[in-house]
Amino acid sequence: MTAAIATKGQVKGWCPGALRPMQSGDGLIARVRPRVGMLSLDQARALAGLAERLGNGHIDLTRRANLQIRGLLDEDLAKLQAELDRLGLIDADAEVEAIRNIMVAPLSAMGSTVRRIAADLERALMGDRRLVKLPTKFGLLVDEGGPASLANERADICLRVVEGQVAVGLDSRDGTYWLGACPPSTAIEIVVRALHTFLDSDPHRRLRDLPIEDQHKIHSALLPSLSALPPFEKTDGRALGMVQGAVGIAAPFGRLEAACLGRLTDLAADAGATELRLSPWRTLYVAVRDEAAGRSLLESAQALGLIIQADDPMLRIEACPGAPDCESSSVDTRGDARRLASLVAARGFAGSIHVSGCAKGCAKSAPSDLLLVGSAGRYSLTRGGETRGTVEARDLAAALAETSHG
Ligand code: SF4
Repeated sequence: MTAAIATKGQVKGWCPGALRPMQSGDGLIARVRPRVGMLSLDQARALAGLAERLGNGHIDLTRRANLQIRGLLDEDLAKLQAELDRLGLIDADAEVEAIRNIMVAPLSAMGSTVRRIAADLERALMGDRRLVKLPTKFGLLVDEGGPASLANERADICLRVVEGQVAVGLDSRDGTYWLGACPPSTAIEIVVRALHTFLDSDPHRRLRDLPIEDQHKIHSALLPSLSALPPFEKTDGRALGMVQGAVGIAAPFGRLEAACLGRLTDLAADAGATELRLSPWRTLYVAVRDEAAGRSLLESAQALGLIIQADDPMLRIEACPGAPDCESSSVDTRGDARRLASLVAARGFAGSIHVSGCAKGCAKSAPSDLLLVGSAGRYSLTRGGETRGTVEARDLAAALAETSHG
């Protein structure tokens, strides 16, 4: 497929793609959307090389299970797009790219119903020009429960394979509203019907923001094709380490350096893997030959600075890139967040922490117990919405001491 090449003058604040990148303090950010939630090892290795050669070597794992190459120059964009095209990782145009937002259960087996439905959904989104009118943040997910489940992720339309049926859920103000179930063979037609009915009402809002009567119109369009829901549990799987014939490995703050991704790809190949699966909690899953190969891969990944245990304090800390990557920041957010991580265990702090380089809060994904916002080399502290003064960046222990008092 030959991709349309985006022109210069990308829009700041845009949800970035590879065809429509976003300008940031360290250059352009191009978001690569893997197909059916995974990258072959060849694709992953090539992306690491592209990030090194054309970007600044920083790669971000995103909360929509995509991957971003940072620090690109305008003049290198066409080269990147041509390489992504060669790797089969680019869409026909920026409109299609913007709506191809499908999260896939990362441990689902090759050839499973989950993966077949996800692949068919991608084809449906790419093949129906009417669907490019969907809001760019509109998302879908295909889950199967288990130890790496998407059950806690939010998407406009959720599908969950359970007992040979596909449960269909629509996002609402109160979370996913499960409408009913259908056979796998009709799931795509039902989703497309939901999308068309949604577009008939208001293509500019998210599904959860529609007036209740418009939500009911979508329900009415689907219900005749749905049967009663089979029972299923809402698990909150975000397993790390050895899990179901695979290993889960997280990147601190979702940031992988190109050399690290390249090395991880080699290690995965040694462990018998053929691909990397991406998750919205920024953990990569690698199916391994056997437990010994998995243990060896985990050990090597830890030596690379990656996270392999679910109780690692780094997983409770969010930090935006901060200085020097972002010109809006006067503080080294990620360096400070690492120092905080080593302090939390010693100080017995069990809550979540968000370290932001400025008030914009780019890394914020959920409210945190402790919020540090940088300004002029200091951090202001907020706990439970209440301001607790400021600390010097070099005195982070005081931030934890402050929050342990009531
Ligand atoms: S929160 Fe501020 S400092 Fe951090 S990345 Fe966003 S703009 Fe930059």
